[in-house]
Amino acid sequence: MLPLPAFSDNYIWMLHDSRNAVVVDPGDAAPVLQALRDMGLSLQAILVTHHHGDHVGGVNSLRQTTGAAVYGPAGENMPEPLTRLRHGDNVTALGLRFEVLDVPGHTAGHIAYYCAGMDGAPLLFCGDTLFSGGCGRLFEGTPAQMQASLDKLAALPGNTRVCCAHEYTLSNLKFALAVEPGNQALQAYASHCAALRQAGQPTLPSHIAMERAINPFLRTREATVAQAAHGFDAQTDQRHAASVLAALRQWKNEFK
Ligand code: ZN
Ligand code: FE
Repeated sequence: MLPLPAFSDNYIWMLHDSRNAVVVDPGDAAPVLQALRDMGLSLQAILVTHHHGDHVGGVNSLRQTTGAAVYGPAGENMPEPLTRLRHGDNVTALGLRFEVLDVPGHTAGHIAYYCAGMDGAPLLFCGDTLFSGGCGRLFEGTPAQMQASLDKLAALPGNTRVCCAHEYTLSNLKFALAVEPGNQALQAYASHCAALRQAGQPTLPSHIAMERAINPFLRTREATVAQAAHGFDAQTDQRHAASVLAALRQWKNEFK
C-alpha cells in the first residue's frame, strides 16, 4: 500500500498484490498510470469517497484506459458508469473485502472504506472526513452529522491505519496544540510528524489510537477540549459534543 502524491497535497492511495491494483480517490489519472506502468500492475478497481474534483478528476480517464470497475457513494453526483454503494455494502477486490461506512459531514453522501487488511493492521480510507489531527470542512453537513461520523471512525480498532486524502497534518497539529497545549502525546506526535515532513516523507497513514489521543475533533468530550472551544465561542455547550465540534471547526477555519 502506498500514497501517490497528487496536486499540491492530495494522496491517491494504491493497494496492490504485485499483479493487480486498487486506487482510492484518483483526482488525477497521471500519477496512477505512471505507478501502474512502473510496477507492471493492472488496475482492477477504483474506490471513490465523495464527489469533489480532487477525488474524482481522474476516474473517467482511468476507467477508459484500464477498464477498471468504479465504485462510489450512492447519494452523490459521480462520473458514470459506476457501482453505487450504501452503508453496509461490501466491495471485493484483490481478494480483500472493503466495507462501506456512511460518514456524512464534509459532503452529504460521503462514504469511507474499511478493510481488515491483506497483511497486518486494518485499513481505513476516509477521504476528507478524518485527517490526521483534524477533520474535513463542513461543506454539506451539520456538526451533529460530522460528530456521528467521527464517532463511527473513532470506534474502529486502535491499530486501524488511517489513509486520508490530504497531507494536512502539520497545519492540523498546529491548531491542535492551540486547543490542547498541555497534551503530551500531541506534542510528541507533532515533533515526529515535523521530522517526517522535513525528510520529505508522508505523515500518513496515521492510526486510530493515535488520533483518539491527539486529534481535537475526536476529543470533543474531553474537558480540556470543551473548555478551549468555549473559550473561542462562549455560546458553546460544553456537555454537547456536536456543539464543541462546531466551535472547533469554526475556530480552525479562522486559525492561522
Ligand atoms: Zn473533499
Ligand atoms: Fe479533498
